[in-house]
Amino acid sequence: MYVGRFAPTTSGPLHLGSLLAAVASYLDARSQDGQWLLRLDDIDEPRARAHAENTALTTLESHGLEWDGSVGRQSDHRDRYWEAIEELRKRDLIFYCTCSRSKLKNKGPYPGYCRTQRTPPSDPAAIRVLVPNQQIGFTDRIQGTVKSNLANKEGDFIVMRKESIAAYPLAVILDDDLTGVTDVVRGADLLENTLAQIYLIRTLGLDAPRYAHIPVFNQRNGIKLSKRDQAYAIDNRMPVLNLVSALHMLGMNPDEEYRDVHELLAWAITRWDILNVPRQVAITDFISV
Ligand SMILES: [Zn+2]
Repeated sequence: MYVGRFAPTTSGPLHLGSLLAAVASYLDARSQDGQWLLRLDDIDEPRARAHAENTALTTLESHGLEWDGSVGRQSDHRDRYWEAIEELRKRDLIFYCTCSRSKLKNKGPYPGYCRTQRTPPSDPAAIRVLVPNQQIGFTDRIQGTVKSNLANKEGDFIVMRKESIAAYPLAVILDDDLTGVTDVVRGADLLENTLAQIYLIRTLGLDAPRYAHIPVFNQRNGIKLSKRDQAYAIDNRMPVLNLVSALHMLGMNPDEEYRDVHELLAWAITRWDILNVPRQVAITDFISV
């Protein structure tokens, strides 16, 4: 049974890039008679905003992207994150890092300063996981083979921030595992981070989902859209037009004759083929906004 999901962060309204990820994951799930879950990645509490959550839900609803079950929340999974940390600690795979941001600036992979600190210090500390010096890889359904040596990239990466907030690679693999997600379809800005996730999945003995990373939508200057770019927030008053744009960017050719989003999505579900999605990590200014 296919279980997909869309997991927007709650730091701002959805923009075109997030709609693209929502549409791609929705179509991939529905075309395989799968479930499509919605989870709000609200763990980053200082930035989580109730208003942004509501606008995200309204945007999905107005575009006909109906999810299964109730809305999940990353903040419900905190105990599981700490369980995983405890498991890694017992296996002597983590250490406590008190390095300041400035100490690590321009240092490349984490230089290992705190590796011997295996018990929590009195000051707040980030928790890092030890990474092996070897290639790790996976096959992405769109991007093909992705591999790298984590030790040469970020090095020992953070799994728990010093504010006791689980870092993204740890949180997302446990969220997906807890909800039985089999397929992750999301933006290619997370392609490299996926290697850290795969490493944690294998270390913790979890089942890896299949991955498909779609191109991210960039502004004219080539910078990825962020939640702060209000100008690119989705206009819920023209959902058919927004979906038509999103489908074009995903390699489909709908016309604009569809009466409503349901008719358009029904057409797209029957035509969906992930191999038509452009095999690139970014699309710049494909349509004028
Ligand atoms: Zn350190």
